[in-house]
Amino acid sequence: MNIFDLHCDTAGECFNRKMPLCDGNLHINLCKGEQLDKWVQLFAIWIPDELRSKAALEYFENVLLNFKNETSENNDKIQLCQRVSDLDNALNNKKCAAILTCEGGSPFAEKDGILIAKEHCVKLITLTWNAENELGYGCQSGVDSGLKPVGKELLKQMEKHRIAADVSHLNRAGFYDAISSGARVIASHSNSEDVLLKTRKDSEDKFFSCRRSLNDEQIKLLIECGGLIGINFCKSFLGDEGDDGFEAVYRHMAHILDLGGENALAIGSDFDGCEINPELAGIDKIPALRGFLARKGINNLILDKIFFENSNNFFKNILQS
Ligand SMILES: [Zn+2]
Repeated sequence: MNIFDLHCDTAGECFNRKMPLCDGNLHINLCKGEQLDKWVQLFAIWIPDELRSKAALEYFENVLLNFKNETSENNDKIQLCQRVSDLDNALNNKKCAAILTCEGGSPFAEKDGILIAKEHCVKLITLTWNAENELGYGCQSGVDSGLKPVGKELLKQMEKHRIAADVSHLNRAGFYDAISSGARVIASHSNSEDVLLKTRKDSEDKFFSCRRSLNDEQIKLLIECGGLIGINFCKSFLGDEGDDGFEAVYRHMAHILDLGGENALAIGSDFDGCEINPELAGIDKIPALRGFLARKGINNLILDKIFFENSNNFFKNILQS
């Protein structure tokens, strides 16, 4: 079976917890993935909200150095990909095809930051995390303003240098600015707010989960602009305690498919970045999830798109040059 996963925090966990990429106690380890046929994994370097500017770049580069050491130690199992030819080469050799992303755009907010992103082969930038940064305001910032001038300028540069923009974590006004900029935009790991509103019991956690999710209008805009929506496996973004496994994933997917999302729906697991129901907690659980969704009636052609083809089409375009 094939999987193209749009988001995990494994690179940061490897660095902060000194865990190996192979055989470690993480959601993603390279041995767990050996049963997969094709595996493309976006590895995000998450920038904590307390780090800004040079401190953010320094942290990014430290995590990246550690990640590169891990990939070279396991070069029979994983390959960091810059171009389509790298991707094809990794997949033909049954390796995990790794693509580098950054969650929180602070490291690249200074003048010529885009060149640093390009030099490090970052292919996707999640513009903010939950708080405010140099580019805009996250979904927890409490601010309703759109992207800052620096954010709008970086988006233009990203488009020019074929780096996609990720609106997961961004506030609503920033989302609309990103969409109307004409940049290539995805929500790498965000679920349906409508499903959460209908199914979760009222709580503080529910209201945060809703802000962190996409309403129907946002989902339709992402579909219209040729973007992607990666389903996040985080417990509280799927449902209530005990109802946050396979069935909840199905609910979010069915809703997005009903809105016309057949060519946009994808997987954005958030592995190693959050608490996940044991049913879903690890790259080795993906085949059982697909089996469950097939039994729920999603046909194989659509499952192929969700688990691999939609994301593969999008990123082959990004990796082209
Ligand atoms: Zn995230």
